[in-house]
Amino acid sequence: MSAERRLFFALSLPAKLQKQVIKWRAECFPQDTGRPVAAANLHITLAFLGEISELKAEALIRVAGRIQAQKFSMHLDDIGHWPGSGVVWIGAKRAPNALLQLASVLRSHAARNGCHQSALPFHPHVSLYRNATRPVAIPPATPQWLLEADAFSLYESTYERGRTRYRCLRTWPLADASAL
Ligand code: ATP
Ligand code: MG
Repeated sequence: MSAERRLFFALSLPAKLQKQVIKWRAECFPQDTGRPVAAANLHITLAFLGEISELKAEALIRVAGRIQAQKFSMHLDDIGHWPGSGVVWIGAKRAPNALLQLASVLRSHAARNGCHQSALPFHPHVSLYRNATRPVAIPPATPQWLLEADAFSLYESTYERGRTRYRCLRTWPLADASAL
């Protein structure tokens, strides 16, 4: 049995927002758009760690617990399709600085612990569909949901019986701006 686990840091979406996004997706996209991401799996990846040892995971859990990052809110007011990776996504036209800083510090800790980080710029997004490789008619706008981020988490991704599941391993609160 392998001791390595597939881990990533991410922001979750509150259950109410998950439901709203799923309902809107069903109304706005044709059924053959791609493979819809399950409601419970909607998230914004901050840093992907890959398949890592328990030792590396423990080191990253320690550093994550020392990060002092600020709460923020963001409007999910952008939408797009990356045909290369087959992802249809929603995101923010202007990502808040606090989000960019949190992702940057997590990604640099990940890199220092030997987790390869993509050279592509960080583009915070919630994947709605995967395997969307054909042209997609993108709705003109999202309902401009507001995502209030007051914590970030470490997730394990597993693939069982044809389904990807995420398990939240740890969550760390984000601080009020006045507390930093
Ligand atoms: P599936 O692989 O079944 O389509 P998934 O992509 O959500 O589902 P994972 O591949 O375990 O599941 O990925 C977990 C998260 O990490 C997702 O947000 C995914 O986009 C992101 N991710 C996966 N691989 C990489 C990578 N090489 N670089 C950056 N982010 C990645
Ligand atoms: Mg994947």
